[in-house]
Amino acid sequence: QSLADVDARVSVCRACPRLVDWRESVAVGKRKAFLGEPYWGRPVPSLGDEQPRVLVVGLAPAAHGGNRTGRMFTGDRSGDWIHAALYRAGYAARPTSVSAGDGQRLRGVRMVAPVHCAPPDNKPTPAERAACGPWLDRELQLADSVESILVLGGIGWQSLHAAALRVGWSVPRPRAKFGHGAQTVFTVPGNGVSDGPGAVSAGRPREVRVVGCYHVSQQNTFTGRLTEQMLDEVIALL
Ligand code: SF4
Repeated sequence: QSLADVDARVSVCRACPRLVDWRESVAVGKRKAFLGEPYWGRPVPSLGDEQPRVLVVGLAPAAHGGNRTGRMFTGDRSGDWIHAALYRAGYAARPTSVSAGDGQRLRGVRMVAPVHCAPPDNKPTPAERAACGPWLDRELQLADSVESILVLGGIGWQSLHAAALRVGWSVPRPRAKFGHGAQTVFTVPGNGVSDGPGAVSAGRPREVRVVGCYHVSQQNTFTGRLTEQMLDEVIALL
């Protein structure tokens, strides 16, 4: 199975009745500014490079952002912030991500989510997070090129730790507390295959650096809790 297979399968998932209702009802009762546009109204697949060095873990698509455009962190203010920061760091072709077909392309980065459907009030329930967990697990299992993970927000931090443990990665104990600039290191077990002395191989255990960042939500960016400089500083750690 490839990451493209995962993207195709997640985009037709209907496992969470409340979120299926919400994502589809938002797509019918559109926001005034987007009345003339079709809404995606389905689970939003991950976005970016299929051999990423860096994963970005968010929370869930926004009702009129990813749920409208069908592309993660695309078409809303949160997306404006993270795409601009990735562009400044050389990870994105453009400083904006407006809609599919706008030419945006991520280089070496893949954006993933603990929850792939837009939730009411941006708050998935614990049961919904649990239901969507296997999709994140699959991302980690296929992420053999990943060296660093940027986690936006405390829920993403918890979800990533849970997924890492489920797929058999080693997570430090006690678990590192989430915070802006928090760092921890996960160990991905090897597969027992030796490529000889000094060889670098996917068969050997490897370390993945995990960096926390306040979420790029308007709640944080409008209030100055998260500034562009703070975002650039944590991206520089990846
Ligand atoms: Fe499926 Fe995840 Fe959407 Fe639930 S949140 S319906 S598990 S894609």
